[in-house]
Amino acid sequence: MLKDTFGRVHDYLRISLTDNCNLRCTYCMPEEDYEFTPVSRLMQADEIETISKIFVENGVNKIRLTGGEPLVRKDAANIIERLAKLPVKLTMTTNGTRVHDFIDLFEDCNIKSLNISLDTLDRDKFILLTRRDQYQQVKSNIDLLLDRNFHVKVNVVVMRGVNDHELIDFVAWTKNQPIHVRFIEFMPFTGNKWENDKVVPWMEMLQTISEEMPIIPLERIKHETVKKYTAEGHLGTFAVISTMSSPFCGDCNRMRLTADGKMKNCLFSGEEIDLLNPLRQGQDILPIIVRNILDKKEELGGQFSTDLVEADKIHNRSMITIGG
Ligand code: SAM
Ligand code: SF4
Repeated sequence: MLKDTFGRVHDYLRISLTDNCNLRCTYCMPEEDYEFTPVSRLMQADEIETISKIFVENGVNKIRLTGGEPLVRKDAANIIERLAKLPVKLTMTTNGTRVHDFIDLFEDCNIKSLNISLDTLDRDKFILLTRRDQYQQVKSNIDLLLDRNFHVKVNVVVMRGVNDHELIDFVAWTKNQPIHVRFIEFMPFTGNKWENDKVVPWMEMLQTISEEMPIIPLERIKHETVKKYTAEGHLGTFAVISTMSSPFCGDCNRMRLTADGKMKNCLFSGEEIDLLNPLRQGQDILPIIVRNILDKKEELGGQFSTDLVEADKIHNRSMITIGG
């Protein structure tokens, strides 16, 4: 069991398959000409499987694949097939653009729930935000997943003056569709032009929504990072992820592995520890993993508190290189 000094058991691993992506979301990828990590420096499929097995033998029961965009990796299908054989709940966060090519594989591999990122319901705004014209593809892939009975969560990063006027439209989408929208507070990462003013705190989001329609709070499941609600008479749900204004570090169970094989014990941790090279040199990496968990800070990687965020002083990778 992987337990930190605050007694938190870590049983959830998020693995980034690549820092490559076919979109260019402005809040995630710092600049258009960002250079992707060469394939030789990424964990290879068999290495991902070996490292995952070590985590699973030590209590991990859920693995989420992420990125960059996990489905642009050429051997994504091979990796998914390998990990599907482990005794874990396997899931993924994807931008949704390539889901149609993988949906049969997801079914074969018993992947039942997916998080799809979509920050706007307006095609022109989508192009502005992602610098690519893929809105229709993402939207039709969400419909495809719903038709095939997947549990679909839609991740929306809410930014003031950018898409905060769309909160009601997103909730309205849950009226007749079993969609689970998650409004995420905008977070600071290296190079993403984060400003305090652009964060819409979760209480403000709730107020905006509840002024338009009655909302009902739903029960929180342990380890969940969301505060969940449903609008009265709606089939789906919506939730807020309040990383910035009200963090949920108290029962955190998450660990991250970057595509180049570095372990991060927190999304905001300044330090990361290499697992890939020691593995390639034939070392036992379990003691490194255990040490990294013991070093985990109590809250927000020990880098900032919610009342004072100085984005330029935060030492971290950009989101695309961590894996959200
Ligand atoms: N490409 C996939 C996708 O977009 O879903 C997976 C990787 S992406 C980095 C994972 C999640 O991180 C997405 O839901 C994205 O919206 C979120 N994200 C990226 N940058 C963020 C930021 N600055 N603040 C909050 N969420 C962010
Ligand atoms: Fe790509 Fe996802 Fe980052 Fe957008 S949020 S640039 S889709 S990795």
